[in-house]
Amino acid sequence: MEDTIFGKITRGEIPTEFVYEDEHCVAINDIHPQAPVHVLVIPRKPIAKLSDAADEDQALLGHLMLAVGKITRQLGISDAFRLVVNNGAGSGQTVFHLHLHILAGREFDEATLARGIQG
Ligand code: 5GP
Repeated sequence: MEDTIFGKITRGEIPTEFVYEDEHCVAINDIHPQAPVHVLVIPRKPIAKLSDAADEDQALLGHLMLAVGKITRQLGISDAFRLVVNNGAGSGQTVFHLHLHILAGREFDEATLARGIQG
């Protein structure tokens, strides 16, 4: 896949504050937050989109979910957050390096689910 801004961020080539980091992923604040808390969890391994993940990525995908738990506990939002993954341009994905949006601090309900990060 082509390199992206998130590739540069995860490799430390663009100085960015990490809310969380470990050997497999980093978390950063979204530059255009859609909620009071809007954090992106980005695997260091560049996978363009979720549907491109392979069987060999099973542990990494699980790791990202557990990282979300750690990050939300660290931020004090583990009781109420929304997790969004845009997959493909038609879904609104703009950066083609897999990332998970953690959103919190505003109202969420089922009616807004289909609106994703805009919800
Ligand atoms: P997508 O639409 O691909 O699911 O989400 C990409 C997200 O990355 C958007 O919410 C956008 O605001 C955020 N973003 C794009 N470029 C940067 C950047 O350089 N730094 C940060 N912190 N966020 C970015």
